[in-house]
Amino acid sequence: MTDLTDLTLADARDALKARRISATELTQAHVAAVERASVLNAYVLETPERALEGAALSDAKLARGEGGPLEGLPLGIKDLFCTKGVRTTACSRILGDFTPTYESTVTSQLWRDGAVMLGKLNNDEFAMGSSNETSAFGPVVSPWRRQGSNVHAQAGDGVVGAHLVPGGSSGGSAAAVAARLCLGATATDTGGSIRQPAAFTGTVGIKPTYGRCSRWGVVAFASSLDQAGPIARTVRDTAILLRSMAGHDPKDTTSVDLAVPDFEAAVGRGVKGLKIGIPKEYRLGGTPAEIEALWARGAEWLRDAGAEIVEVSLPHTKYALPAYYIVAPAEASSNLARYDGVRYGARVPGRDVAGLYEGTRADGFGREVKRRIMIGTYVLSAGYYDAYYVRAQKIRTLIKRDFEEVYASGVDAILTPATPSAAFGVGEKGSADPVEMYLNDVFTVTVNMAGLPGISVPAGLDAQGLPLGLQLVGRAFDEETLFAAGQVIEDAAGRIPMPGAWWA
Ligand code: GLN
Repeated sequence: MTDLTDLTLADARDALKARRISATELTQAHVAAVERASVLNAYVLETPERALEGAALSDAKLARGEGGPLEGLPLGIKDLFCTKGVRTTACSRILGDFTPTYESTVTSQLWRDGAVMLGKLNNDEFAMGSSNETSAFGPVVSPWRRQGSNVHAQAGDGVVGAHLVPGGSSGGSAAAVAARLCLGATATDTGGSIRQPAAFTGTVGIKPTYGRCSRWGVVAFASSLDQAGPIARTVRDTAILLRSMAGHDPKDTTSVDLAVPDFEAAVGRGVKGLKIGIPKEYRLGGTPAEIEALWARGAEWLRDAGAEIVEVSLPHTKYALPAYYIVAPAEASSNLARYDGVRYGARVPGRDVAGLYEGTRADGFGREVKRRIMIGTYVLSAGYYDAYYVRAQKIRTLIKRDFEEVYASGVDAILTPATPSAAFGVGEKGSADPVEMYLNDVFTVTVNMAGLPGISVPAGLDAQGLPLGLQLVGRAFDEETLFAAGQVIEDAAGRIPMPGAWWA
């Protein structure tokens, strides 16, 4: 019998429904896999008892022919989602052992539909980063290794560049899915944090349209950009998960009151008659030839499947990254003001209230978070507000308009690379110059700035044997086209075999 952790989420669902396997054995297999993979540091908190209790309940329901669409499926939850009675830290020291008394809307919908929680997944501190190296729990080690590398992970060996990063900020989510430590995971994306780690790990990640998933109970980074979404092993699996995660929530005023389509039904729809745009501004000088070639191949696959490929222009693309790194830190500095040591999380006592704030924040926040707070406070300050923040917001409007014009011309989706490179080594990027790390987001931030949906689908391996992803960007609230076109890419590329369990 095959290892139950090798099943896709869709296959596991069907096997459970047909009672060929039980939720208990499926969960046990995952709990054991998680235990063996501690060296990857993907989970920051494991909840095996809760998982097994949930699985037993699911088995009882399945035996009666009942159960929701995710009944008995074990998932991992990014530690940015508040989970009632289960420690939630955003991987920051400042949240200490904060244990929410409420459940995020997205996760409560997963439990409503029968899913089982294996634990909380590592991420960059407050989701700020592209490599999962800013986490207070330490970096996540990617299950992928460069070809010919026989590096063996040893906890805390600290060899720079020896291990690869899984991407970030949802690094734990992507690594856990690729290493078969869960059937799917929740993630969040403010500038690329679902799509970039998915691309680095050969998994599928979709950032839905802003407003599709409720942000209620998700630790805020930059509220006008943050969106929750799934990472899983196949396009179909992400479609199944998104259907449960999405939906209107009166507790989030930016959540949109639209019916949630049956995303899975769109998966086999194909791309016949669709118009796919290739934005010429995304042809950056310096993008590796392998990625250019992959992009061209992706366009060919879609053309072979009946789509029309057209060149399009998104002229304000080059301003997206600098504008994002003004808007996101500005909102972050405001959102993070609440961590003062008074209401929740860690507290460092001081001589007076100001001393308490200072001590708590100096000790509780990591370097990258402090950098963002300083940038954000600076661009919002009286003398610089118009020069930086207001201008960045104007650029954001222009970026949004670029996309609207392309879609108004009849284009159904846009195809780009997901990242400018494959995964890099732990400690290899950004330590001397943080901007080097920010450049990772060059293909993804525009989509958040415009509030549009974007999916990253594995499309091949580079010369070192590492996964590369292609991104499809859709019209607002048209995730269905992304699932349809994403499946065409997945079929043409062939499913990328996941790395062998060298860590176990
Ligand atoms: N890498 C980007 C940043 O650091 C995006 C992170 C995210 O999407 N959460 O801001």
